[in-house]
Amino acid sequence: MRPAAVGVHGVHKRYGAQRVLDGVELAVRPGEVTVILGPSGSGKSTLLRVINHLEKPEVGYVSVNGELIGVRRHGELLKELSERVILGQRSRIGFVFQNFNLFPHLTALDNVAAAPVATGKLSKPEARELARELLVRVGLADKVGAYPRQLSGGQQQRVAIARALALRPGVILFDEPTSALDPELVGEVLAVIKDLATSGTTLIIVTHEIGFAREVADQVVFLDEGRIVEQGPPTELLDHPKHERTRDFLSKVL
Ligand code: ADP
Ligand code: MG
Repeated sequence: MRPAAVGVHGVHKRYGAQRVLDGVELAVRPGEVTVILGPSGSGKSTLLRVINHLEKPEVGYVSVNGELIGVRRHGELLKELSERVILGQRSRIGFVFQNFNLFPHLTALDNVAAAPVATGKLSKPEARELARELLVRVGLADKVGAYPRQLSGGQQQRVAIARALALRPGVILFDEPTSALDPELVGEVLAVIKDLATSGTTLIIVTHEIGFAREVADQVVFLDEGRIVEQGPPTELLDHPKHERTRDFLSKVL
């Protein structure tokens, strides 16, 4: 069997006295879409940050395509891979944020072309060619020269998705990609994510869009107080939740 695209193994993370992740285990198979649900403060963003190596867990470890980083047990570091390997893994993981985080002084084209040039993966002309293709793919062929301030929130988020794709990542993490958008702009962004999902990119998506989760997710994970309370295919978790806390949460967001 191929290794998990992303494996989260017994991860504990605290901020001061607060336990934010409390023994999280998660496996995401290549090409699968995982949707993470959970109340505010349950640790969803922290989990994505641990997967992307922006945060180090005190205990446990993350693997990307079977490659481990910094194995810890009871606070003791058993094995740590070099910064070079961490950077290598991070460049294979795309990250799309709630607030787009585009460079305000760069056009849509240059926002998308910047990373492949900065990381030495492509020459400037190659990166601009790729950026143009990716902007076409997200439906923004006519906006290549626009600056972020000239774009709607939905268009900015689609540029951000094209930017994440420019490094040809194996996995893309989305942290509430539509929650900063006006309701009428949510659909255009979800349509682009759905296109990625059906094209076989491995996606991990934190979202409260339950209908979307039902349509695209292979597995849905419900996180509460830093623990995975329940996980399974959308038809099970969304339609027949086993746990009271999952039912309670779904009754509030549906
Ligand atoms: P979610 O994304 O599910 O809303 P987060 O992962 O952002 O939850 O946060 C989980 C908890 O960890 C919250 O109580 C939050 O206040 C706390 N937290 C998150 N990041 C930090 C940080 N850098 N320093 C201290 N506390 C943090
Ligand atoms: Mg969050």
